[in-house]
Amino acid sequence: MSNYQTILLASDLSDESSVVNRRAKAISDNNHAQLHIIHVIEPMSFAYGGDIPMDFTDIQNEIEKQVRSQVEALGNELSVDKDKQHVVLGRPEAEVHQLAEELQADLIIVGSHGRHGLALLLGSTANGVLHGAKCDVLAVRVNED
Ligand code: AMP
Repeated sequence: MSNYQTILLASDLSDESSVVNRRAKAISDNNHAQLHIIHVIEPMSFAYGGDIPMDFTDIQNEIEKQVRSQVEALGNELSVDKDKQHVVLGRPEAEVHQLAEELQADLIIVGSHGRHGLALLLGSTANGVLHGAKCDVLAVRVNED
């Protein structure tokens, strides 16, 4: 079996996801792989656009600035260079799939919440990433206790 060469870590930047980050780092080190990080910002207009008649540009820019510095901090922690840190706007599942294809990633790593029951094993984003991915997907159990 060949090693993974390009690994894409999809991070929601939550505190609980540190276990996912550590696992991604260990797997990429063990495989001598290139590790990329992606965080997807969902545009506020997706959620409120049609309902609230206001301009979200300033808030959106501020969110983007903060997210970029969080991703940079995560990149430093995991020794992932800036050119492998990706902050994009859109729907998480779609953007993760698109970047994975662009990078020709052979493994995507996401977190999965330990909710009860088989149907709730994967959160909606993790589930969406798994379905339709053209490479392996590892769902790392996130402990919420
Ligand atoms: P969820 O399905 O929302 O519980 O999220 C499960 C996993 O999906 C997270 O641990 C991340 O790996 C990934 N994920 C969720 N939201 C995002 C996001 N905005 N950008 C990148 N990855 C995400």
